[in-house]
Amino acid sequence: PLAQRDEAADERRRRERIFASAQERYYEQPMQIERGWRHHLIDTTGRSYVDVVNNVTGLGHGHPGVADAVNRQIRILNTNSRFLYRELAEYSERLLALLPEDSALDTVLLVNSGSEAVDLALRLAQAATGRKTVVALREAYHGWTMASDAVTTSAYDNPYALDNRPDWIHVADVPNRFRGTYRGEAGDAAIGAKYAADLGRDLDALAAAGRDVAGFICESVLGNAGGVLLPGGYLADAYSRVRAAGGLCIADEVQVGFGRMGSSFWGFEQSGVLPDIITIAKPMGNGFPIGGVITTKRIADALASQGQFFSSAGGNPLSCVVGLSVLDAMEEERLQENARVVGGRLAEGFRALAGKHDLIGPVHGEGLYLGVELVRDHATMEPATAEASAICERLKELGVIVLTTSERSNVLKVKPPLCLTAESADFVIARLDEVLSTGW
Ligand code: PMP
Repeated sequence: PLAQRDEAADERRRRERIFASAQERYYEQPMQIERGWRHHLIDTTGRSYVDVVNNVTGLGHGHPGVADAVNRQIRILNTNSRFLYRELAEYSERLLALLPEDSALDTVLLVNSGSEAVDLALRLAQAATGRKTVVALREAYHGWTMASDAVTTSAYDNPYALDNRPDWIHVADVPNRFRGTYRGEAGDAAIGAKYAADLGRDLDALAAAGRDVAGFICESVLGNAGGVLLPGGYLADAYSRVRAAGGLCIADEVQVGFGRMGSSFWGFEQSGVLPDIITIAKPMGNGFPIGGVITTKRIADALASQGQFFSSAGGNPLSCVVGLSVLDAMEEERLQENARVVGGRLAEGFRALAGKHDLIGPVHGEGLYLGVELVRDHATMEPATAEASAICERLKELGVIVLTTSERSNVLKVKPPLCLTAESADFVIARLDEVLSTGW
């Protein structure tokens, strides 16, 4: 209806007046979203969309268990974390229980976002080692605060030239076997070994220059690249080189952790490693702002050398109760298993489409963290950037919300709520097939 369309135009003007131009609104003609339910978003005209991008609402939108938890707790108590209350210890223990059995990590620090978690992880690595240098991988996103932005090496998100970073950052090559320095098949162990050996040379050069490494940070699956799995053996080799150089290994699990990979709860489990510090956020609160760092007591205690650590809202009773309700729902609704099954079905569907449409290159990822890379030429991997953007616009018209990612914005990022159904997965595949068959 006309009145509702006018309302969307008004809202757009209002937004443009108040917001900074750096705050993207994604679509040329963005819809005005009014409500969400499970893996659907509904606009003010009553139109519903399958939401393929919302990894923050891991349980799905409008989850009644989370709503009840918020309502109950906010009437009882919400205060800062200087006091003793049961929920903080209970939630921290539940988080620790999610770690692999042989993990030595036993300490949780709660904050409010992924950027804060990364910031804190970097600070912990520096405090515990007494060193400053942090190694980050090229083409990564880790957050927007001053420190998390400094390790954000993606040119798309952080236009600092790679050689114009704060002097405590070193940027290492990204082990992307599809587009990187060394390319080849998933099973080719030599690829991971070559990237790790290059990292080892970087560490030697840093030590020779008097810049011993404090920490090494990377995503356990290359999220910003669209869910590119690390080459076999890379992470284990990289971690042992970093540790041999006296540094700590930080796994940024903000995107890829928390059950999304389906076959494992954490992304690092895919590589059979155990980090020294883990950063978590997005799905922890199903949209409610919670973030955290999991580490050892020895590393956490080193913070004392920098004074007190205190976050006013970090770890407050309300966010802990929300976090507990999210973990309960994940278990009751078997969402990690759903990610494995429905994610497998989606990946299979995308790969079948790749056989039919030349524009589809590699399909990345696992579980419900997938990336469909669009290329103009399979040999040169020329990115189909304009096509990817137009396809997202057309998919929106057909009822699917999907966006692009990667340095070249040519990967369709697929990271829906973990409650996605097989029926909706098939709908997404059918709509993409329709767009690729009929044009965009
Ligand atoms: N790390 C990774 C891997 C992320 O993807 C993000 C957010 N996209 C962050 C950290 C920062 O999280 P937040 O937006 O909650 O600050």
